[in-house]
Amino acid sequence: MEEKNTSKHFIELLIDKDLEDGVYETVHTRFPPEPNGYLHIGHAKSILLNYGLAQEYGGKFNMRFDDTNPTKEKTEYMEAILEDIRWLGADWEDRLFYASDYFPQMYECALKLIRKGLAYVDDLSADEIREYRGTLTEPGRESPWRGRSVEENLDLFLRMKNGEFEDGSRVLRAKIDMASPNINLRDPILYRVAHVSHYNTGDAWCIYPMYDFAHPIEDAIEHITHSICTLEFEDHRPLYDWVVSACGFEEPPRQIEFAKLYLKNVVTGKRYIKRLVENGIVDGWDDPRLVSISGLRRRGYTPESIKKFVDLCGVSKSNSVAELPALEYCIREDLKARAPRLMAVLDPVPLEIENYPEGEVEWLDIPLNVENEEMGSRRVPFGRHLFIEREDFMIVPPKKYFRLFPGNEVRLMGAYFVRCTGFETDEEGRVTKVKAVYDPETKSGSGFEGRKVKGTIHWVEATACGTVTARLYENLIDEEKGMFNEEGGLNLNPRSLTVCPDCRVEPALLDTKPFDRFQFVRNGYFCVDCRDSLPGAPVFNRIVPLKSSFRLN
Ligand code: ATP
Ligand code: MG
Repeated sequence: MEEKNTSKHFIELLIDKDLEDGVYETVHTRFPPEPNGYLHIGHAKSILLNYGLAQEYGGKFNMRFDDTNPTKEKTEYMEAILEDIRWLGADWEDRLFYASDYFPQMYECALKLIRKGLAYVDDLSADEIREYRGTLTEPGRESPWRGRSVEENLDLFLRMKNGEFEDGSRVLRAKIDMASPNINLRDPILYRVAHVSHYNTGDAWCIYPMYDFAHPIEDAIEHITHSICTLEFEDHRPLYDWVVSACGFEEPPRQIEFAKLYLKNVVTGKRYIKRLVENGIVDGWDDPRLVSISGLRRRGYTPESIKKFVDLCGVSKSNSVAELPALEYCIREDLKARAPRLMAVLDPVPLEIENYPEGEVEWLDIPLNVENEEMGSRRVPFGRHLFIEREDFMIVPPKKYFRLFPGNEVRLMGAYFVRCTGFETDEEGRVTKVKAVYDPETKSGSGFEGRKVKGTIHWVEATACGTVTARLYENLIDEEKGMFNEEGGLNLNPRSLTVCPDCRVEPALLDTKPFDRFQFVRNGYFCVDCRDSLPGAPVFNRIVPLKSSFRLN
């Protein structure tokens, strides 16, 4: 982890050189998700990188759905992806494209390759094709159908398109080199038969292009200059270049690979997130425990914090793993000065101030954020009946416990000093009430200079407070055990969600709307849930606790 480097990363250096050498005159990037799931933090890196480069070089940025595989793609995903990208702030303006709209051009490209003798229809089964492909150490074998004439190939391919053949019975393959050391060049499949409706093109097609054939054509059609993808495609680059050149595109895009963003012990990867959603382990794709973009948004992350995190991680060619606390650091930094700081008691126990008049309530003026005076202050009721956190009182305190215990004095934040005079318990010995007396001389802001106290605790007044639900989160994964168990399943953390159904909040916290963010003093940053909140009855998700061991060095 390093602070955002002001020096350029390797992609910027490559682009600089391309512009200098006149290979390209402008920079035109794209983000090409497949609408087969929701986007996650890794995609955010790719989006912000591609969009950022277009901005930096005064170029263009395309949003393009790489929707060439009808079996897994859905309109729901498409809409969610657009919402996420818009929220992140990447603006594609009027350049929203669908790879499926290029099916006619892709088909033309395939015909062109056949006519050039660079593609053929193969009757081998999928298993046979795999077997003929060879291994890393052994060359592949040529299919017996490789020598078909151009006419026969054109005829068969047309009939594939017309629906005469069953799924899997025939494919169109590139004729490259079955002995190539790069397995991707051993006559890769270009088209397959699939009698499946497509969410965009319906039943217009029953043959669909493979990714390695479709993607370079999509880039070339859109005049993309720098086609940025992740490292696993490095070995595919010769094929990418082959397709662009064999199809005769005159301004070939350049593919550049960078390392994926990984978060240690965090479920990224569409496939895994999808499984958690489908198995009901989380509450949908936007469950606040997920690092899907919609999950992060619902949790309360800001686009700025995600951008800061992505910048911190940097762009490189070698795989590295980021830490979750680094992401948490970024949202804390972002909210530090801009989130109002209010009082909420997550696990309340009553505190009665015995010498405060019954029925009387005074309104105290307390700053909204001591680190940002411009935010001003709010009025907070104070009276005889309060709530404090259960853990802020102990009958028998351990050493260095400076909060309330019989005989001890603490400051009630923004209010008075109170000294504990006693407590009540139920039959099980559970504390049901704490009693104290207050000292009117010690009012906060009154300039009281007398004795000092070591502890300050937060509180809310009992008659005017609201009762709300707050939710606390931990990593979905059990960090001690690591991501996977021996059977390859995920080691789930049984404590990833804690619900506090009886959280007491000061009145100002009832007048909120979804996505409002607050610091609950001493308890962390919280965000009003966008799905479960009702008017006057907000549900708060904890974004992060206040402290962590992560330090930016
Ligand atoms: P996943 O790996 O989660 O299954 P994917 O790569 O299949 O995702 P796509 O929709 O194909 O998802 O990805 C769109 C773009 O996002 C691609 O250019 C891909 O390289 C990039 N991308 C995906 N995951 C990451 C990641 N972890 N870090 C950076 N970029 C990523
Ligand atoms: Mg993919």
